[in-house]
This record gives sequence, structure tokens and C-alpha cells, in this order.
Amino acid sequence: MESKILRLAPLPPRVNAVTVVDGNGDFNIYVNEHLSLEARRAAYDHELEHIRREHFFTDKPVEECEREAKNN
Ligand SMILES: [Zn+2]
Repeated sequence: MESKILRLAPLPPRVNAVTVVDGNGDFNIYVNEHLSLEARRAAYDHELEHIRREHFFTDKPVEECEREAKNN
């Protein structure tokens, strides 16, 4: 419960990472395998910031969440 599961995935270009909350309440973080190691780390940190700020359980607009996650 509330685990973070990191996987590399062949995501489309321009998509750095995607996080999906599953039925167990776990955060499944998919990082684009086409990124460099450094970019993968940055994408993972970005998703962690969304999780930390509970953006997956808010009605806030996506744009505001993205702004907050970028300013960590
Ligand atoms: Zn984001």
C-alpha cells in the first residue's frame, strides 16, 4: 500500500514519465526508457514531487500541478 513501483517503458516521444495509481493505492511510475540516465532521474524526481504534493488526489488544474512539481 502506497508503494512506489518504478518501471522503464517505451513511452512516446515528449512523454518523460507517467504515474498511475492502482487499486491497491500503489504508485506505478513509468519512466520513458528512451531518455538518458540523467533525464530518467529528473523525470522520476518530477513524478515523486507530484506524489509528495498529493496531486493524484486533488481537483487542482493540471497546469497548476505541473507548475508546483517544476518548482520543487
Ligand atoms: Zn508533471
